[in-house]
Amino acid sequence: MSPNTLPDLSQLPSNDAAAICARFESVPARRRLFCNRTLNLRAVKAIGYDMDYTLVHYHVRAWEGRAYAHLRQRLLDGGWPVGGLEFDPERAMRGLVIDKRLGNLVKANRFGYIKQAMHGTIELSPEQIRESYGRTLVDLADGARWIFLNTLFEISEGCMYAQLIDLLDRGDLPGPMGYDELYRRVRHTLDRAHLEGALKAEILASPDLYVDLDPDLPLALLDQRESGKRLLLVTNSEWNYTDAMMTYAFDRFLPPGMHWRDLFAVIVVSSRKPAFFTGNHPLYEVVSADGLLRHANDNIAEGKVYSGGCADRLEKSLGLDGDQIAYVGDHMLSDTYYGKKLMNWRTVAILRELEDDIEAIHLFAPQQQRIESLMVEKEELEHAFSQLRILRQRQRAKYGPRLDADEQRDLSDNINTLRDRLLQLDAEIGPLVADSNTLANRNWGLMMRTGNDKSLFARKVENHADVYTSRVSNLAYTTPFVFLRSLRGSLPHDAAVWPPAG
Ligand code: IMP
Ligand code: MG
Repeated sequence: MSPNTLPDLSQLPSNDAAAICARFESVPARRRLFCNRTLNLRAVKAIGYDMDYTLVHYHVRAWEGRAYAHLRQRLLDGGWPVGGLEFDPERAMRGLVIDKRLGNLVKANRFGYIKQAMHGTIELSPEQIRESYGRTLVDLADGARWIFLNTLFEISEGCMYAQLIDLLDRGDLPGPMGYDELYRRVRHTLDRAHLEGALKAEILASPDLYVDLDPDLPLALLDQRESGKRLLLVTNSEWNYTDAMMTYAFDRFLPPGMHWRDLFAVIVVSSRKPAFFTGNHPLYEVVSADGLLRHANDNIAEGKVYSGGCADRLEKSLGLDGDQIAYVGDHMLSDTYYGKKLMNWRTVAILRELEDDIEAIHLFAPQQQRIESLMVEKEELEHAFSQLRILRQRQRAKYGPRLDADEQRDLSDNINTLRDRLLQLDAEIGPLVADSNTLANRNWGLMMRTGNDKSLFARKVENHADVYTSRVSNLAYTTPFVFLRSLRGSLPHDAAVWPPAG
């Protein structure tokens, strides 16, 4: 599946849209764009891109594996007994929440109710979850307790924190130390690993091991640029790293003589998002290939590379309103939340994990159908069971319609039969549902769902991203002229009133 394949458009009746569309390869579900809020891309005049995990995707196991190794080494150097720990990429997942008070990793539904939890690496039972969280909702505004995993860069952190909780509980870490202090140490240590040179130097030395190339990606950006949109790159990465990664990921797929920088009207590195959206930081111009900086005046000029600055100044320099600018990024807070909330920019979330989720959903479809048909039966039986129970209650308490002795005996028999059938159904549904909670990630299941409901992560995507998709190159399929319309939202009462009877 590649948009580079040219369809044969000969002998097509020009008024037959379906026939024209049929000549283009159909786009599989995992590569489509999903729209929360209607977005007419034609009305968007500038598209800003984040770089890491947006324009440049990394092999998570490899990149986060190295980040984890650096983190572990720093902890080892501090005398912690972590030499035997190994990176497990499925231990954590984007959208999980760290509970610093109890030392847990939790997965919540869209309302903040906690549906799955692990203390360290040990799964909590439903009873334990009720005990710990019966009266507690995840409240991300309470940053002293809850930490949301916003990006794939936080998988190593989540994994290490969980493993260290096990060590702390066993008394193997220097103490006394609380779960929140342990988190602070992990966060600080990983932060240092990102900021100091050694980790990035490894990536720069062997980008082939870490960068997941996408040949169709430059095509998407070329389409947008040639259709008149101004493209912007706004990344937290520093200039040297940005230049190396973009050169590696883009130049080989661009027309001869073209360089990745030619795609962008404005490039901002070291942008310090989310501060880029919230603050008013000084702006510097990058004036040499090795990243020498010079103070820049207020006006951002096209064709230049800047460091720092802020979104407000960028927007003014472009002479555009917020809703004429779209920003595409992977970070649920720094990219989509602030871009939308503070700047009113249109937002596109890049969620690569969606490809695995959708693949897993496809493979599980027969079992899911089975769950659904068993649930239909269960609901019917439960309804019947409730009706019979209320009838029995009325007989026992001697109110409401009366039954004779034979009818009362039949009533008891029927209640017992229904109860047995319900138990049988539960025995069949239980393991299927348990399997559905391990799809795509053996510990946590699908990123966007908690059981039947939307996950907290899905709710964030819904609130902050107008559109979400697995990767930027998916925009090549829809073209820069697309009018993305959101679906008519479903409401619980829809099924009862639609289609209208008669
Ligand atoms: P962006 O996604 O292109 O805006 O940039 C992500 C940059 O943030 C990369 O250079 C990462 O190395 C860096 N980064 C990710 N996590 C951390 C952290 O915990 N501390 C400091 N830098 C980080
Ligand atoms: Mg990013």
